[in-house]
Amino acid sequence: MRHVVIIGSGPAGLTAAIYTARANLSPLVIEGGRAGGQLTTTTEVENYPGFHHAIMGPDLMKEMRAQAERFGTEFLSGEVTAVDLKQKPLTVRVEGEQTVDTKTLIIASGASAIQLGLPAERRLMGHGVSTCATCDGYFFRGRELVVVGGGDSAMEEANFLTKFATRVTVVHRRDKLRASKIMQDRAFKNEKVTFVWNSIVEDILGDTVVTGVRVRNVVTGQTSEVACAGVFVAIGHSPNTKLFEGQIEMDTKGYILTRNGTATSIPGVFAAGDVQDSKYRQAVTAAGSGCMAAMDTERFLESEG
Ligand code: NAP
Repeated sequence: MRHVVIIGSGPAGLTAAIYTARANLSPLVIEGGRAGGQLTTTTEVENYPGFHHAIMGPDLMKEMRAQAERFGTEFLSGEVTAVDLKQKPLTVRVEGEQTVDTKTLIIASGASAIQLGLPAERRLMGHGVSTCATCDGYFFRGRELVVVGGGDSAMEEANFLTKFATRVTVVHRRDKLRASKIMQDRAFKNEKVTFVWNSIVEDILGDTVVTGVRVRNVVTGQTSEVACAGVFVAIGHSPNTKLFEGQIEMDTKGYILTRNGTATSIPGVFAAGDVQDSKYRQAVTAAGSGCMAAMDTERFLESEG
């Protein structure tokens, strides 16, 4: 029987691990399919306090993991396939049918990239379609690329991809970006980045590899084609909460509802990071809520004797 199991190994999960490990609760972190979480798919993190020259996302996560390990955190790689939160002990089943019993659970399973929902997107995923510029940008040296979206992720990906691509066309459904001013300015100043405004990607072209996209202007209704070798979809994220459906209270978008800090609708189950935050979604806010979840867990265990 574990004192605490943490699902997820992004900033929220690993901060919760650092704090619960230092509280002698011997946490077990189940790392999930993408160990380290979303920051492992990003490039330079410039706004995480403490790194005035910026730090690469994967390096930041390596540091956090090592820090959690130093205080005795155990790690289990693999995905959680089922949870039972309706009785005590809580149980968590991990890939390979291993079941872990625990007194408390911290859910820090994060969020995943949303896709456009086009059949061609699924078919050509990994053959020119990507949701991760850091992972796949290298494959597009000297090619033309399209980025879909108008938020910080889209601007970051567009700028990053100009290291490899000859031209990056950003297709955005409105005539204004959602991205922060600094990220917008960087993209506007980048000579390799051009914008197609008020437009949605209607189809991704190509049989076995991407050859272009068909875009439709939502104001004029006109369609046109943009030739490209790759399409990077950067239109936001949705919480990884499918596992918990029907067992824990969530909002209409599937984010876990928390109250009094990080408590969920189930005593002994806490939630931290993007899985319960549709508003801030920053590495530093995720880490902060991971710390809160650890302290809430410790107090819960104390109150249970
Ligand atoms: P986001 O801010 O939600 O932006 C999503 C973008 O995709 C929006 O421009 C949205 O258009 C567009 N979009 C959504 N659904 C679409 C669809 N079906 N078809 C076409 N376009 C669609 O998501 P994000 O850019 O991933 O950022 C998430 C959070 O992480 C934000 O808080 C952001 O500040 C943060 N972040 C920060 C950094 C950084 O500071 N370095 C980097 C990455 C992310 P509309 O604008 O019309 O809604």
